[in-house]
Amino acid sequence: MSLADLPLFEMRRVSGLGALCELAAEQAARGAPVVLLAGGTDWVVEQELRPPLELGAAGTVGPTAGAGPALPPLVVDVSRLPDLRGISLAGDTLRVGAATTYLEMRRSDVILGRAPLLARMSRDVGAVQIQARGTLGGNLATASPAADGVAALAAYDATVVVQSVRGERRIPMSALQTGYKRTTRAPDEVIVAVEIALPEPGSPWYWRKIGARRAQAISKVALAAVAEVRSGRLARLGLGMASVAPTTALLPNVRALCCSRPIAELTAAEVDAAVAQDISPIDDVRSTRDYREHCARGVVRELLRQLGAPV
Ligand SMILES: Cc1cc2nc3c(=O)[nH]c(=O)nc-3n(C[C@H](O)[C@H](O)[C@H](O)COP(=O)(O)OP(=O)(O)OC[C@H]3O[C@@H](n4cnc5c(N)ncnc54)[C@H](O)[C@@H]3O)c2cc1C
Repeated sequence: MSLADLPLFEMRRVSGLGALCELAAEQAARGAPVVLLAGGTDWVVEQELRPPLELGAAGTVGPTAGAGPALPPLVVDVSRLPDLRGISLAGDTLRVGAATTYLEMRRSDVILGRAPLLARMSRDVGAVQIQARGTLGGNLATASPAADGVAALAAYDATVVVQSVRGERRIPMSALQTGYKRTTRAPDEVIVAVEIALPEPGSPWYWRKIGARRAQAISKVALAAVAEVRSGRLARLGLGMASVAPTTALLPNVRALCCSRPIAELTAAEVDAAVAQDISPIDDVRSTRDYREHCARGVVRELLRQLGAPV
């Protein structure tokens, strides 16, 4: 696909978050939500799958085939909007702007020091070209069940900060996704940042992505985890698993089981049973249901072995 094949669209920049929210509200009221172009690594690719737009006899615009947008999209470049950028630490709360790229997260001393899982996950997204453009906000908005960033944020039990003309709203990761690529974010809500209440420094974390190759591979299965261990027990276990359900799997049964008694008493059979309860993988172009189930059990057991469980 070349840039010349993209449908016509109007592209704008805005002066700040207030102007962006007003524009987003106007467009949503017209039934044509604004596209917030951050890295473009999801949206531009999606355009190839859309039916082309053509001018009708009366000058109206409509898709030539199938269901598509009634109007050419209004695209706003948010990649350099200051309100959506920046990585900062206030006490034990880390705030990462929505327009932060994976490359910026890989290189951030704050993230490397206090949220190393985010930096490690970022190394496995696409290849360096995608990491230089793709953003956390785009990953959250697209909300693919294969999204690596969403899995890592789920493990941190992060909070997504969104803004609209109605004000700010904070969405816990556990309340974000409602179905395949569906979220509780309203069409006029802009993702501004994510906030993470950081675990104690030095807390164990885990990242494993299984794909067809080392780079440019969408996960067949990926597991992100953050743990806090006290006196041989898991005081906290945050989990996010990609590509095993219509949404990022938070593995509530695995979390509950592992925190219910000393790590040394966990058994492989009960861990496998909890994993089976928490996932519903499918066969698709990237993998099979059976292989995903096998990998899901394998990565959870590997994580728990690293934490000292005899599984
Ligand atoms: C070759 C290739 C490899 C890839 N590999 C991976 C991978 O390994 N792992 C992975 O998880 N993903 C991967 N992706 C998908 C993509 O790179 C990521 O999902 C990325 O995070 C998207 O961010 P973006 O800034 O490019 O989003 P964009 O394409 O700019 O935007 C995507 C959508 O998000 C919306 N949006 C963007 N920012 C905001 C905001 N602040 N508020 C509200 N809505 C917003 C836009 O309106 C648009 O609908 C890959 C993509 C490609 C093309």
